[in-house]
Amino acid sequence: MAADRFAVVGAGIVGVMTALELQKQGHSVTLYDGWEPGHTRAASSGIHRVTRSAHGADELYTRWQWEARMRWLELQAEWGIEILRETGGLLLAESGRSQWESAAIPTLSRLGIPAIKMSPPELATRWPHMNFQRVEFGIYEPHAGFLWANRALVKGYQVFLQRGGTFVRTRPRTTPAERLEIDGKPLAADRIIVATGSWMREMFRRTLGSVLKVIRQDVIFTSPPEGSTTYDAGNHPVWIDHGYPGYGIPAVEGHGFKAVIAWHESDIDLDSDDRVVDRGALVRSRQYLSYRFPELVAQPITDQKVCHIVMTPDTHFLLDFHPDHDDIVLAGGGSGSIYKHGPVVGEYVAGIATGRWAPDSRFTLEGRQGLSLGESPTGR
Ligand SMILES: Cc1cc2nc3c(=O)[nH]c(=O)nc-3n(C[C@H](O)[C@H](O)[C@H](O)COP(=O)(O)OP(=O)(O)OC[C@H]3O[C@@H](n4cnc5c(N)ncnc54)[C@H](O)[C@@H]3O)c2cc1C
Repeated sequence: MAADRFAVVGAGIVGVMTALELQKQGHSVTLYDGWEPGHTRAASSGIHRVTRSAHGADELYTRWQWEARMRWLELQAEWGIEILRETGGLLLAESGRSQWESAAIPTLSRLGIPAIKMSPPELATRWPHMNFQRVEFGIYEPHAGFLWANRALVKGYQVFLQRGGTFVRTRPRTTPAERLEIDGKPLAADRIIVATGSWMREMFRRTLGSVLKVIRQDVIFTSPPEGSTTYDAGNHPVWIDHGYPGYGIPAVEGHGFKAVIAWHESDIDLDSDDRVVDRGALVRSRQYLSYRFPELVAQPITDQKVCHIVMTPDTHFLLDFHPDHDDIVLAGGGSGSIYKHGPVVGEYVAGIATGRWAPDSRFTLEGRQGLSLGESPTGR
């Protein structure tokens, strides 16, 4: 397929990376979003995102993350901005529920990705400010860290424009037959890639209503103690605490110590809810900090963010054609972990849209079922 007209609907990380890849292949691409790319309603917004290789026993996502790491580093050099900060990453395996982490170790080793298994006494020696209660072991990945989420997305969008891409500030809607239209007229393109993240569920309610679930995520940033560098990037890794479950990113460039307590019960109205962290989330966050980072419990919360993730039943991404329309590709189902794979996902989606390959069965709509935590690639 050469120089076809592609429409990419949704300018989050999936849309922008797909648009850049299609453009690189010589296609004409129009990107649509109702707000300026980088806007704070999108799941890709915010300061940073964790990136780490461990995906339990799953080799494909482990390999994708490692490949994406190289791509982010290449983009960093090409675009002249920092995208990836390798702070190291610490995964904590919960006592009696460490199947996922145990399976990750041989997978990482098979793929040649550096990772060290650490016992609780070793963890306590290395990070004495943390409480390792109920931890069976840790996995330290020296090349894990964080991506500057908003920065990379906005830069990607700017590069897309500089290379001749078109951006239209509007939100195409779906008809009852789940076709795309703008102001009552069909969206004209040879292929349409829909990368609208959590919004995809509402747009394709008939097809995706029972497959996707949208969950609110409350993020808080706590000030490190005055004069302390313990919690800074450089001294502190990003961490994932599957047992609790929670995860976070060290303080950097004046942003506080980020902690997210994964809470799967909160709904969000994507278009009308105020994005202000609720009282319950503050309480849960403080409880977590007092448990794992006791010194931080008395520190003030200095920033907050309300975000959302869209989950598939098995946490595999959804990258497939619409079942009724062979000109529409659905690209999302990020399940709280698609940002880190951004450049690889962009290339993969472009490959589906241009007919270079068919989606792997794990990404198709058919037969989506739940997995146990032990099998889930994201560990959720
Ligand atoms: C708190 C939090 C922490 C996370 N941590 C991590 C992490 O550590 N590592 C990781 O890899 N991932 C993480 N994620 C997940 C990751 O950020 C998301 O999965 C990813 O950014 C989703 O990207 P997206 O492009 O699919 O969706 P979005 O970024 O939400 O983009 C969708 C876009 O579509 C637009 N849109 C909606 N409807 C329409 C329409 N009709 N027409 C046109 N445009 C439309 C929206 O305005 C939006 O800009 C986290 C998410 C959250 C919320």
